[in-house]
Amino acid sequence: MTKNHQKQLRCWAEINLAAFERNLKGIQTALPEKMRYLAVVKADAYGHGMPQIVNRLMQSGVDAFAVANVKEASDIRHMGTGWPILILSPVLPEEAIQLIENDLTATISTSDEARWLNELSKANQSQLKVHLKVDTGMGRLGVWHTQAIQLLQTIQTLPHLSLQGIYTHFSSADCDVQFTNLQRDRLLEVLKSVPTKGLLIHADNSSSLQSFNEKNPFNAVRVGLLQFGVLPYPKSALGHVHVEPVLSFYTRVGLIKELPRHTDISYGRTYQLKRDSRIAVLTAGYGDGIPLSLSNKGAVLIHGKRCPIIGRVTMDQTIVDVTDIREVSAGDVAIIIGKDLSQSISLNEFSQSADSHAWESLCSITKRVTRIYKGSREI
Ligand SMILES: *Cc1c(COP(=O)(O)O)cnc(C)c1O
Repeated sequence: MTKNHQKQLRCWAEINLAAFERNLKGIQTALPEKMRYLAVVKADAYGHGMPQIVNRLMQSGVDAFAVANVKEASDIRHMGTGWPILILSPVLPEEAIQLIENDLTATISTSDEARWLNELSKANQSQLKVHLKVDTGMGRLGVWHTQAIQLLQTIQTLPHLSLQGIYTHFSSADCDVQFTNLQRDRLLEVLKSVPTKGLLIHADNSSSLQSFNEKNPFNAVRVGLLQFGVLPYPKSALGHVHVEPVLSFYTRVGLIKELPRHTDISYGRTYQLKRDSRIAVLTAGYGDGIPLSLSNKGAVLIHGKRCPIIGRVTMDQTIVDVTDIREVSAGDVAIIIGKDLSQSISLNEFSQSADSHAWESLCSITKRVTRIYKGSREI
């Protein structure tokens, strides 16, 4: 954060690309050798900005990218041709031609999908790359594990599909190691009767790296959140990998004013001042990514001190109590997520106060918020 940014902006997120790269290296070093790294960069790289994050990942040596849809995948393809790009969601019929035009990899969960994608690929004299997804207990995408072999055989009979990988996704990796291991075993059971040579086999995401077993024959991981320096599990993922926060979130004090005891604050009068108070009106609200659920709950840091949010968060403004901070004035910086002097508000704390989780909080920082990038490359 520089003085210049403070002067120009009402609300901004600072993205530290050097920290991001250190996290990436830390995770890669902690993984077994030869483990491939699929960087998950869906939803604008978890709100950090797709092009900047993808550029850095390309320079830092990741093996492949994974995203949610053909639009995100095509954006990456236009940045570089050397990386496989896996689409993690079902593809709609009208979008499918882009799979072929941009050399993207589709996920197959049903024989229906396999057949119509094969037809499309045939009509374009192409070989469409696909991964088979196995539902081992998530109950969302993938073929149910007991029927996986059958679908695999179907795919192998379709000449215009080229099978590149097999994967599954964990439903409870951040809270239930036992169920995660059951899911792992179900995939292993499928793999027993399948030739896997040359295929990418992957299951682990940020949370499950915590219960990662080096003996598993999986040869790739799909990592999203952990790259951004957020530990999804109370215990450190991988036990020994150290990650640091990449994103900080700031706003400013728009004005300061004194109000008498018993004054109601903001929409719906959900908060009443208990004493004669000084309040600061911040220049950001839920239109920027401070969730309504932080009303009367969250806090920000101003001059290294915690200032509680009082009353409802509104679209463009948030009100905090600064009665106990003498030196505060209009224009000062307020930290929503980040550190200052000895105090810090982590993304996890911010999310927990808002009854949310880190993934949603990152996706909720809106377009209105300018992303400021810093962090030169470290060789
Ligand atoms: C989002 C996603 C990931 C990445 O999850 P993180 O918890 O952010 O590491 C991996 N796999 C699938 C299928 C996903 O949708």
